[in-house]
Amino acid sequence: MLRMPRFELLEPTTLEAALSALAERPEKSMVIAGGTDLLPNLKHELFTPERVVSLARIASLRSVRELDQGWLSLGAMLKLEEIAAHETLRRRYPALAQAASLVAGPQLRTMGTLGGNVLLDTRCQWYNQTYFWRQALGFCLKKDGTLCHVVEGGSKCVAAASNDTAPALMTLGAELVIVGPAGQRVVRIDDFWLADGAANKKLDPGEILVEIRLPPTTPGHRGAYGKLRMRDSIDFPLLSVAARVDLDSSGKVSHADLVIGALQARPVRIKKLDSVLAGVQTGGDAWKTAVSQAAELAYRQCHPMPNVPGDHEWRREMVPVYVRHTLESAVRGDGPVHGL
Ligand SMILES: Cc1cc2nc3c(=O)[nH]c(=O)nc-3n(C[C@H](O)[C@H](O)[C@H](O)COP(=O)(O)OP(=O)(O)OC[C@H]3O[C@@H](n4cnc5c(N)ncnc54)[C@H](O)[C@@H]3O)c2cc1C
Ligand code: SF4
Repeated sequence: MLRMPRFELLEPTTLEAALSALAERPEKSMVIAGGTDLLPNLKHELFTPERVVSLARIASLRSVRELDQGWLSLGAMLKLEEIAAHETLRRRYPALAQAASLVAGPQLRTMGTLGGNVLLDTRCQWYNQTYFWRQALGFCLKKDGTLCHVVEGGSKCVAAASNDTAPALMTLGAELVIVGPAGQRVVRIDDFWLADGAANKKLDPGEILVEIRLPPTTPGHRGAYGKLRMRDSIDFPLLSVAARVDLDSSGKVSHADLVIGALQARPVRIKKLDSVLAGVQTGGDAWKTAVSQAAELAYRQCHPMPNVPGDHEWRREMVPVYVRHTLESAVRGDGPVHGL
């Protein structure tokens, strides 16, 4: 049986109190939101904080607010099930609502939060194991060791960004509002990641993610989320695809975006997508050809590694399959895509 290590739990009711609690011992404290990632990781002794500060009683972190100029603010403590079911989000930001609907299973979505999902620790099949297991194999770069079991001779951890909402938020141009000892800062989600699986986020000890802000979308905005996983009822992604297709009033693509998750330490944006999709009229043969070209583009740019379960060569072959289905589903408006 895996035991929970000892730590001091604080449950402040205001953001200010939470920040003060963290500021006393920032390096030795951690935040807990829904706990669905943190608690298993504590049992696996991947982290050993002395103090854990819960955000669960801070009501201000659970609101959905319309901001100026059509922006929408989502509190970091909104539950994934709330994001998945929210009518405005399903209509204006379908890729995000669909991504949230495919995280884990229903119980975990009831506990797990949007903020916790954005800040999910990177995952690797050689790391997300018990202390005993990791010790027997030999510790790795991400925790306590000096080598990598995925890339022989590698000097950088390539654990995978496996958070489902991150690729969707990237296609939407989301911004993160972070508060800490130095005050508040707003970061574009694209600029938040580091290409290092050992620590892939620009978040300092003592900082709290309070809000996720979404820019407005146009009536022609379309989006969808696709996810390949081992068991279609609960698992982390083996591959994930967030698609954005903006249409003009005549049904032609004005802009498209694809972000792929579960490959490496940060989600991967497919380059030069507009060169094959922009200007194409959806629905006809030209659209089918363009979608195939987009799938080929993604195949060439995506190189899954043996960092998460599932044969990595098979995962690569599934890239164009999921890209094609997710783009088509975005335009039809009938996502999410899973279980292919
Ligand atoms: C069986 C199983 C299956 C899962 N499947 C998936 C899956 O398919 N896809 C997926 O994306 N995830 C999956 N998860 C992981 C997890 O359930 C989700 O990612 C969830 O959204 C995490 O949110 P949380 O609120 O529980 O985060 P927590 O566990 O509370 O926190 C996660 C991390 O973020 C930090 N943190 C949380 N909120 C804040 C904040 N506001 N400010 C600063 N730091 C913060 C914590 O310190 C911790 O490091 C799975 C988990 C399990 C156990
Ligand atoms: S990618 Fe390498 S260093 Fe990173 S967790 Fe996996 S085995 Fe460890």
